[in-house]
Formats: sequence, structure tokens, C-alpha cells
Amino acid sequence: MSSPGRVALVTGASRGIGRSIAIELAARGYRVAINYQSRESAAEEALRIIRDSGGTAIAVRADVSDQNQVGELVERTERELGRVEILVNNAGITRDNLLMRMKDSEWDDVIRTNLNSVYYCTQAVIRGMMKARFGRIVAMSSVSGLIGNAGQVNYAAAKAGIIGLIRSVARELGGRGVTANVIAPGYIDTDMTSVLSDDVKSGILPRIPVGRYGRPEDIASAAAFLVSDEAAYITGQVLAVDGGMTM
Ligand code: NDP
Repeated sequence: MSSPGRVALVTGASRGIGRSIAIELAARGYRVAINYQSRESAAEEALRIIRDSGGTAIAVRADVSDQNQVGELVERTERELGRVEILVNNAGITRDNLLMRMKDSEWDDVIRTNLNSVYYCTQAVIRGMMKARFGRIVAMSSVSGLIGNAGQVNYAAAKAGIIGLIRSVARELGGRGVTANVIAPGYIDTDMTSVLSDDVKSGILPRIPVGRYGRPEDIASAAAFLVSDEAAYITGQVLAVDGGMTM
């Protein structure tokens, strides 16, 4: 798949799925901005992996739930790498609780980080994409956004919201060479899922037809395809990468 030195911004790329996407895109010749919130050493490690294998990348600290910081993130990426042609909205958090016990702060944190961030980041890059008549936008939803999940009303609402947002973007920008798609990962082995109890994990495994948990690389290869030039005729889609969990 071709990637003539295109510039890709991946949010939440210091760890887990985002890190894997950043490394995969860099290996395919994209110039990558690795965004992170607080774990500088993890971001530096991802940066080192990319540079050691001859890729081009920068690491940029920014809280994507803050519109001003998103402005600075895009401004720095464009100053150091060039216009953002690929945006992967990946940053996300969980604050799980049953609805009965959910605190307003848990609701707000998840909506701001997982949904508002997609609005801020996407809005910040589309002008350049429209001008260039090329752009690729991908956002990370979740099986929870498709089928719901007990204990995750906040997370599922944000992840379902992403689908409506991205499909609307796909309709608004389809005529300008900009595609917008969603990936809905199933259970992927990362820090986010490492906090789940063994009981919960072993309850999930029998629901995965492929018979194993997902790896960040499973998501990275799907993302790499969706942002490629070859995926020009795919827009507004939700691609479940979940080992068959939600089929
Ligand atoms: P991790 O917890 O492993 O990593 C989260 C990443 O997001 C980190 O790089 C973190 O940065 C960054 N981040 C968190 N908050 C912010 C913020 N406010 N601003 C900027 N960066 C931020 O998560 P995963 O890799 O597991 O998940 C990645 C995405 O995939 C998320 O959107 C998640 O909801 C989604 N997903 C994950 C699934 C799974 O099973 N793991 C399943 C379905 C969807 P830092 O290191 O600095 O903290």
C-alpha cells in the first residue's frame, strides 16, 4: 500500500493500540506524530523504535480533551512534519461503573476524552484536507459502542457517538477526497484491558470465534489499510476488528 511520505497524526500513541498504529504507519513510510498525554518515557520509547528502523516521527504532548491543546498539537505537527493528511483518533480512557453508581466526573471525563477529542482533532485538520482534496480520518470506537456493555454507559455512549460523528464527516467531506471511517476493536491486550479481572477475561474468550484475544497489531493493520490511498472508495464504514465477537 502506497504512502508517499504522507503525514499522520495518531492520538494516544505512547502505548497500546495507538503505539502499534504509529509504528506500523512509520514502517510503511508515513511521517508520524505520536501524541500522548502524560507518559513521556513511553512516547520516547515509541519514537526510538521508529527512528531506529529509519522512520520519521515526533512525539507531542497534548491533552486531546482540551481544544486549545489540540490546536497546539496540530500546529506543531504541521510546523515540524507538514500538513496533516492522516488523522487517527485513538486516544481513550475508561472510567467503568454501573449506572446506579456512576459519578458525574466519570461520565464527563470519558465523554470529554473519548468523544469531544474526536470533534476537536477532526475539526482542526479538515480545512487542510479539503484544500488538498485528500485526507484520511479514522476513529477508534469499540464493541461497547455497537452492542453496549454493563458498567460502561459513559464509554459506550462516547463510542457510539463517534460512529455518528464520523459518518456525518464522511457525508460532509466525501466529495473532497476525504474519507472517514471507524474501527470497532473487540478485546485487545493492552494496559486498558489488563485491569480486568481474570474472571471477566475468561468470560470474554468463549465469545470470540477466532479463539484468542486481539493484539494491537491486529488493529494497526486495519488502520493502515483504511488510511491508504487504496482505500479511497471506503468511507463512513464501521469495521469491527474483534475476532468475530459482534457478527
Ligand atoms: P491504553 O490505555 O493502552 O492507551 C491509551 C492511550 O491514550 C495512551 O497513549 C494515553 O497516553 C492516551 N491518552 C489517554 N487520554 C489522553 C488524552 N486526554 N490526551 C491524549 N492522549 C491520551 O488504551 P488502548 O490502546 O487499549 O486503547 C486505544 C483506543 O482503543 C481507545 O480509544 C480505546 O477506547 C479503544 N479500544 C480499546 C480496546 C481494548 O480492548 N484495548 C477495545 C475497544 C476499543 P499516556 O500514555 O500519556 O497516558
